[in-house]
Amino acid sequence: MPHFKSLGLYSKLIEKVNQYEEKLLEKYSSDIACRMGCDSCCILESVFPVEAYVIYESIRSGEVKPEIMSKNHPGKCVFLKQGSCSIYNVRPVICRTHGYPVFIDGKVDFCPENFNGRNSIDSEYILSLDNLNSALASINLIFYGENSDDFFKRERIPLKELAEFVINK
Ligand code: SF4
Repeated sequence: MPHFKSLGLYSKLIEKVNQYEEKLLEKYSSDIACRMGCDSCCILESVFPVEAYVIYESIRSGEVKPEIMSKNHPGKCVFLKQGSCSIYNVRPVICRTHGYPVFIDGKVDFCPENFNGRNSIDSEYILSLDNLNSALASINLIFYGENSDDFFKRERIPLKELAEFVINK
């Protein structure tokens, strides 16, 4: 992977989200129903170019071996395979927050299967999705200035196009 500043910042952001998940599970693991095989959240269609680039490079280098879903599964992410993410180690930021308590558009949201019967969640365990998205957008902007590949010079990259791009390279 090239030594872009944006990629280093992206790794740090992923680290922070992973730390958040660790902390959340330490306190609330018995309240979280998220499990292998549940793919209700896997409806992602597109990502920022910087995220697409990380996925692309990981596949190209052989670090990640994706299974690409055939086109006849409308509404499901192209990287989903039998209920599991086939690019799990490099899944986008938003996928790392699936089901967890996030603050977005002025309210707290989480998977209805999680936190059943609990009246409240400590605020320090609620992730601000607006802040996360702003950080990601800033990193993506830096990536824009560093990347010269036309495929990644767009506002968003559809995951289906990314999958085809990787296969045809
Ligand atoms: S990238 Fe992986 S975790 Fe994210 S929506 Fe697709 S299959 Fe699900």
